[in-house]
Amino acid sequence: MDRYARHLSLLELGPRGQSALAGSSMAIVGCGGLGAATAMYLTRAGVGSLTIIDRDVVDEHNLHRQILFSEKDVGRPKAVVAKECLEAIDGGVRIVPYQRSLDPSSIHLLKGVDVIVDGTDNLTTRFLLNDHSVKHKIPWVYGGAVATEGMSATFVPPGPCFRCLFPSMPPPGSLQTCESAGVLGPLPPLVAAIQATEAMKLVTGATPRKTLLYIDPWQGVWREAELEKQRDCPCCVGGEYPYLDLDKKDMVTKLCDGGKVQIVPSKKAKGLVRALEKRYPQGAVRDDMFVLSVNGIELVIFDDGRALVMGAGEEEAKNIYSRFIGW
Ligand SMILES: [Zn+2]
Repeated sequence: MDRYARHLSLLELGPRGQSALAGSSMAIVGCGGLGAATAMYLTRAGVGSLTIIDRDVVDEHNLHRQILFSEKDVGRPKAVVAKECLEAIDGGVRIVPYQRSLDPSSIHLLKGVDVIVDGTDNLTTRFLLNDHSVKHKIPWVYGGAVATEGMSATFVPPGPCFRCLFPSMPPPGSLQTCESAGVLGPLPPLVAAIQATEAMKLVTGATPRKTLLYIDPWQGVWREAELEKQRDCPCCVGGEYPYLDLDKKDMVTKLCDGGKVQIVPSKKAKGLVRALEKRYPQGAVRDDMFVLSVNGIELVIFDDGRALVMGAGEEEAKNIYSRFIGW
């Protein structure tokens, strides 16, 4: 317990709070700027177990803000690198990494955790998280960081939910993303510090913040607005969870991060990496992924059939995927 001495002497935590942290199980969805930092703070805080779900590999342009990763990690899966880094920080924390995209087929990975921390970069996944949270009464801590502006809110069922705040999906292209607007390097770890604090408060029985927080450290702004439950909210009032049962078609998504396209096939493969290794000697196996370069386009294929395609548009990515996988 020596390493937590400064928590033990903290009035807000003390031995009781620290032991609640040690008995807690948390999940972080998305291990980018926000998720990498919350993972680090929560590991250092001595949580019992931390599930990390991330679909991406480390890119060089992640390094200015994603504080778990270094140059040697470029090209490796974030969830795997995160596990290595976090275990080096505190070997007593159980780290459970998943190289997965969070979608209705993988949402069961979040069953039984005490708190979910949002490190995603898109609204579809947040709507899915919210449906899961309201349905199974699991609190979650939202975070967002674009340009110099950060947001966070803590949603605790049966209180106001994310869809009380954002009732419906805005039209594609109407929201700023890290890709279009950039992001200030120190911003995600700042928002993550707030998210990690809220997660710690939730599992130690403290009262979570009841407001939507907006910060802009560049402008020196910190503002809060009351979260209000909407009487016509389809989710927390109406009990509708449409994002949990999206129809099962192949999902092709352009990722916010670095001109990548992700393909999640409706069918799940097994043993695909070994099969591809035999079929395509020009490719290579790295960290349980099959990596292949074709005319400047890079394909990273996971064992279950999911793929990341770098250097191609959505249509071209789909074509090249079906050319090599045959789906
Ligand atoms: Zn609601």
